[in-house]
Amino acid sequence: MVTMTHRIALSFPGGAAIGHDAIIRSQGQASMQLFQQIDARTFVHRVDARGRISHVNAAWLDFGAENGWPVTAADVVGRPLMDSIADAQLRYLYGLLMARLRAGHGPFRFPYRCDAPDCRRFMEMQMLYDQAAREIEFRSQILRIERRPEQTLLDPLHATDARSLDLCSCCKRVSTRSGWVELEDAVMRLRLFDSDRLPQAHHRVCPACADGISHAGHARCSTGAH
Ligand SMILES: [Zn+2]
Repeated sequence: MVTMTHRIALSFPGGAAIGHDAIIRSQGQASMQLFQQIDARTFVHRVDARGRISHVNAAWLDFGAENGWPVTAADVVGRPLMDSIADAQLRYLYGLLMARLRAGHGPFRFPYRCDAPDCRRFMEMQMLYDQAAREIEFRSQILRIERRPEQTLLDPLHATDARSLDLCSCCKRVSTRSGWVELEDAVMRLRLFDSDRLPQAHHRVCPACADGISHAGHARCSTGAH
């Protein structure tokens, strides 16, 4: 067990230093030992009106370094946020959520995943709009961590899976069992980001927008985020 604990500590060099971490071993079957690490840090970054990173806190930089991305604030401040999101699908969905915030909706809170080769991290994101500064603040926390055998070939982050997501190209709402809902509601209800992978988005036109279009002129496309 000592060896195991050491392996975890080495995987989270920043975690051991902050004092309030605890490593808990479940009392389950020997072959299915689960480890949890409690980490109360909040990782904060802000994005300005032009979509550029305007601020990151120390915890955000530490988390990057712990995950193989050792950068300083000077390296990232001023860079477009979207440059740091590798996946096109995720960039698109985040872009829509940011546009909704700027249009006066929110704040939003949703679960998402940020996995490492040796663990699944269940995270929570809060997105808030600071009207005065015209900046969006992203506040992210770790809810829990599950250890897993190290994945030597980690799938590309948020590769798409077999699920599909119907997204209206006009109003950007998402089709769910209970009808078409705003994207931030879909992110919660369908736990869209709370998975290894994202569903494949299919663009179509929802019945309300189709009605609007067929009645000419007042299609909701004119107010769409893109
Ligand atoms: Zn629509």
